[in-house]
Amino acid sequence: MADNRQDGGLNPIDIGIIGGGKGGTALLQALKDIPQVTIVGVCDIDPQAPAILIAREMGIDTYTDSGQLILEQPMNWLINVTHKSTTQRHILSRELSDVTVIDGHIAELIWHLLLDLQESLKDSNADGSSLYELVWTVIQRIVNIAQPVHRELEHIAFHDPLTGLYSRHMLRQFIEREISHVYRNGQPLSLAILDIDHFKEVNDQFGHDVGDQILKQLAELFKNSCRSTDLASRYGGEEFIAVLPNTNQNASLIWAERMRERAEEALRTPDERKVTISIGVATLLINADLSNDTPVQIASDQLFKKADNALYEAKDAGRNRVVTSEISITQE
Ligand code: GH3
Ligand code: MG
Ligand code: MG
Repeated sequence: MADNRQDGGLNPIDIGIIGGGKGGTALLQALKDIPQVTIVGVCDIDPQAPAILIAREMGIDTYTDSGQLILEQPMNWLINVTHKSTTQRHILSRELSDVTVIDGHIAELIWHLLLDLQESLKDSNADGSSLYELVWTVIQRIVNIAQPVHRELEHIAFHDPLTGLYSRHMLRQFIEREISHVYRNGQPLSLAILDIDHFKEVNDQFGHDVGDQILKQLAELFKNSCRSTDLASRYGGEEFIAVLPNTNQNASLIWAERMRERAEEALRTPDERKVTISIGVATLLINADLSNDTPVQIASDQLFKKADNALYEAKDAGRNRVVTSEISITQE
């Protein structure tokens, strides 16, 4: 405990901020009055976001890409006050082992605390420095004590306990974020649905525990087949979904074929029969002028449906195979 306080009290802390709206503005304006804190950069996809404009005036570096902020600015804390902060952290955490990433409810709590402090100081003539000291101590307590708990609970919420893959909840958020990227940068995005062939028979014959072991084994193969920028998730019982950014139809076919082969080579029932999988893939392409108007959720539904249809085709065609497809986003 004493260590925490010493750390926070004496050590200077470099902070990066993601989110240029209300939260980012409150953080920026309050943290600048805390002597131990240096804001090293502020990021928002909108270069005209309020906190971005303020940061520029203050001579703080601004970014439209969070990856760039992380790359260019060494920092101790990264406070993310955007709504999609959880998904974003999935990406960020891979590059940020030494940085304390503060997001979700904890980030919200912090910026509200700072906003309250600013509000209460506005109407008084009091010197705010001792209050800032106090609030800064509270914030460090929150980061040191509540943030790890928050992180653990979030891990439970966003992961499937049997396989350790991301859960359906994370999948939805991630895919909508990636579709927004497609709209901005025009790169293709693929979604692959894997389903174990005749898995019911395996369970019926050998029991649920054997089925679970096969699911776990497949999940490992699946995770290892995905790049760090992909998302590997468990969608339902024996259905896994991979989201593959920057992947066109041809590349998705190569990926899915390799995945199918690996499963065929590795998975066996206790009596040494092969367990195989079928994969349906859909690749989202930009249809020039129309695409940006299609709501992300509708695009996401269309992509899921297309991949699901491809999976059905693969099953219909005899299983243990891959079917790929393409979809151009159109207006409803
Ligand atoms: P198909 O080739 O058409 O996909 O046939 P299938 O038997 O795999 O398909 P179906 O959807 O009829 O059955 C899925 C089975 O997956 C049902 C259930 O026995 C099994 N299953 C679903 N979730 C779990 C799980 O968490 N653990 C285990 N062991 N089995 C599961
Ligand atoms: Mg199924
Ligand atoms: Mg199945």
